[in-house]
Amino acid sequence: MKWPAWLSVRFLRTPAAKKSLTLCPTCGQEMRLVDRSSMSGDDMRSYRCDRCQKEHIVDFGIATWKAMSDARESDK
Ligand SMILES: [Zn+2]
Repeated sequence: MKWPAWLSVRFLRTPAAKKSLTLCPTCGQEMRLVDRSSMSGDDMRSYRCDRCQKEHIVDFGIATWKAMSDARESDK
């Protein structure tokens, strides 16, 4: 069985959006993780771009510890 061509194109494109979170939105270079905070329950991380000398806050969504405790709650 052969996949239609349009399906493989979509499959290859989807994961790329997540990967670009650690890339500088200005120059596209891989950024360095300098700080992270999950105080509010969201996984916020500060990345620094060495080329632009700028820091960018990246929101990774729900923090891992919160997602895990939520999963435990729904287990009951
Ligand atoms: Zn940059």
